[in-house]
Amino acid sequence: MFFLLLLLKYSILCLYLFEKELILMKTSTKIAACALGVAAAANAVHAAAFRPKKQELAPLPDEKVDVDRYRKHLSRAIQIKTISNRESDLVDWAEFQKLQDFIDETYPNVKAKLEKTVVPPSNLVFRWKGTRSDLDPIALLGHQDVVPVTRGTEDDWVHPPFEGFDDGEFIWGRGALDMKNHLLGVLEATEALLEDGFEPERDVYLLFGDNEEVVANDKNGARDIMNYLKKKGVHLDCVLDEGGAMLPVDVPHVINGKYLAGIGIGEKGYADIEVAVCAKGGHSSQPPKHSAIGELADVIKDIENHQFKSKFSYNMKQLLDSVSRNVTYPVRLVTCNIKALQPALLQIFKLIPPAACMVRTTTGVTMTQGSPAANVLPQRASVTINFRAMPGVTTDDLVAHIRKVVRNKDIEINVLNSKEASKMSPTDSRSYKIISDLCSRMEPNAIVVPYLVMGGTDACNYEPICENIYRYGPFKADASLMLCTHGTNERIPIACMKEALVFFKSFIREASAE
Ligand SMILES: [Zn+2]
Repeated sequence: MFFLLLLLKYSILCLYLFEKELILMKTSTKIAACALGVAAAANAVHAAAFRPKKQELAPLPDEKVDVDRYRKHLSRAIQIKTISNRESDLVDWAEFQKLQDFIDETYPNVKAKLEKTVVPPSNLVFRWKGTRSDLDPIALLGHQDVVPVTRGTEDDWVHPPFEGFDDGEFIWGRGALDMKNHLLGVLEATEALLEDGFEPERDVYLLFGDNEEVVANDKNGARDIMNYLKKKGVHLDCVLDEGGAMLPVDVPHVINGKYLAGIGIGEKGYADIEVAVCAKGGHSSQPPKHSAIGELADVIKDIENHQFKSKFSYNMKQLLDSVSRNVTYPVRLVTCNIKALQPALLQIFKLIPPAACMVRTTTGVTMTQGSPAANVLPQRASVTINFRAMPGVTTDDLVAHIRKVVRNKDIEINVLNSKEASKMSPTDSRSYKIISDLCSRMEPNAIVVPYLVMGGTDACNYEPICENIYRYGPFKADASLMLCTHGTNERIPIACMKEALVFFKSFIREASAE
């Protein structure tokens, strides 16, 4: 009986406690639900307010431009085969002379009023003297050379690569996007400004190198031009070269009708490094457990398994923030917390090669070499690795990295080719603001962001005489079209050519003013 009473009491106590627990649980669930509700409401308000900063900008001036003339000239310029080559002797310099003659004939005002200097072999310097020689000049860059058409792919072109065919929608040919479009756009704008009777305050330099596409060579046209200017004591206020463009961004339900205008403020470094392993070699009928190639396989694995650290740079964070503010409201409910999401986002970036290259120095294993015959053991096996270094990572750092991560300490390391990463140009300079504002004025739906250029340009050669170096071509074209650059069916949409001329004219007007 006592036991029964005790059990009953215990059961009541349990029930009581259980009920208490339930009440407690209900209360805490209610509190949690309330807290979540408040947080969700706060997040909803935050997402609604998480919009791009509004800026009042005047629309672009009504510049007089002649697109038909630009089209005709671009077609003709594409027909001139200014193909560069690592071996200077293999370059057809007569074609470069043809391009120079074409410029002289086509732009009579440029010829008459700008001072022209040829820096050998075929680099062009045009100086438009301003009214205020006490101010630092500005420079607009362009390269005259183009890459060749890969042998065997000529027939894949819809229109032959050196015909400059204009079908009313596109102008087709090698250089249509990289970068006779840009080079001629600069010349057309200059000619038009001269026709308008415009006089710049600062000197305006047009600097056209002759071998940007093979710049890893000892010969470097842009560097020769820079040295020529440096000797004359010129210090440039700003440089505008190729690089970014105005790309439409449309992802259903995520981002609608926007454009991404990336202004390149720096570029990655480049290095081809050979790593070799030596062995005894000999007849392949009596092989050791691992030949030099077997040893090399471990070296390659060590290098690939130790990728460089990934990190969002300050500019990358700015880019993420700008894009996050421009997505649709439902997506902004997430992206408004972009700062908190960055560590997770970085992990995702690391997994996707086109994104990973934006956040780290990349390691591309590209070539291997072993013995010269199938029945000979190699005495030396080597691998070539192509690194694209983030600013701040030098070629010496790359070599030190290899030494550190490869367990085999008997390796031989040779730097075959290298170009250091550029400095990063400021985003608070007068010239950056002019470019950025012009992008926004040209396209009110543009998200204008500074970014790191993955490839190389001539621009970084001007670092000794300029701090404000920007890479932007004012051409509005689909990213898929941009991928034709250096490839088959390179072509420029005619629809983007008018805005480009307005941009170049406006840039020269504004940047050359005090
Ligand atoms: Zn180019």
